[in-house]
Amino acid sequence: MAKKKDESEAITKGHFVRCRYCGQKNAVKDDYKNNSANCGKCKLPLSNEPHKKFADLSKHEYIHPADSKALAALKAIPGVDTSLKKLLEWTGESAIRVMFMASAIKVTPKQCPDLHAKLQIACTTLGVDMPDLFIQQNPVVNAFTGGVEKPIIVLHSSLIERLNDEETLAVISHEVGHIHAEHVLYLTAARLLEALANFGAARLIPGSEILKFIISAGIGSALLAWARRAELSCDRAAALVVQDPHIVGRTMMKLAGGTLTAKIDYDQFLEQGREFQKNYDEKKLDKFWADILNAGLSHPFPIWRVSEIIKWVEDGEYDEVMKNN
Ligand SMILES: [Zn+2]
Ligand SMILES: [Zn+2]
Repeated sequence: MAKKKDESEAITKGHFVRCRYCGQKNAVKDDYKNNSANCGKCKLPLSNEPHKKFADLSKHEYIHPADSKALAALKAIPGVDTSLKKLLEWTGESAIRVMFMASAIKVTPKQCPDLHAKLQIACTTLGVDMPDLFIQQNPVVNAFTGGVEKPIIVLHSSLIERLNDEETLAVISHEVGHIHAEHVLYLTAARLLEALANFGAARLIPGSEILKFIISAGIGSALLAWARRAELSCDRAAALVVQDPHIVGRTMMKLAGGTLTAKIDYDQFLEQGREFQKNYDEKKLDKFWADILNAGLSHPFPIWRVSEIIKWVEDGEYDEVMKNN
């Protein structure tokens, strides 16, 4: 009751803060200061700081050079597009959609409305049509985007349980980044190849000739090498939506440290990222990737990823994209 009275007093006195992310008008108490209350719709902290929505952001403004390089190497392999499209015909878009409609919770304005609002924020900020968003019960902290023509985003339940609202926005924005950067077709093919490797299910594919071709032509390894580098571009996209690269950094810390996070010092984590960047050896990391393909790690190496985000920000490139748009 007391809370209701506070709110109605605020309304009569006209104390409102419009959410910088979703635009919702929120009644606030007299002693409200920036970030001391959360938006009733998207649950993100209320602040008077502006939030930029990009009018016409080009992916080339934030794509990581390692992503473009690996993509060029992949595209240079003869027959890559036709063989991957053939591979995806096996699962097909409708099969992916039916699987999640049958097994996961679909997020709508009425079902988990704050997640729906966060998806809308990520899409309006980057300039992407809204995809369907699902939540799936899964203890592995992860999220992914898949599909062919109509992408869908899936968040694992453990991820939402572990992250705060800003960090959840960062993860959703990373996934929307995959759509904005036009990664979805290749990413879906990469996940399918990983799944086939993990479950030894290759023999189940009726046209396993196509799989043999993909592996012998080196498409599989080039695709997986690219998919890991594509993560770096989408971490940047996430930073462009949350507009505080440290939120992306803290999200990585949780991905790296799990439930221990309360005991982990963020500044030391960043220091570890800088240390990693100094000794970064692309060839060694590549070999390691090849060795762990079967481990099913689709978003690995949070330290590497945070080191790349720090570098991007410290080189002034993040500020440049924010300024030029
Ligand atoms: Zn809001
Ligand atoms: Zn990703």
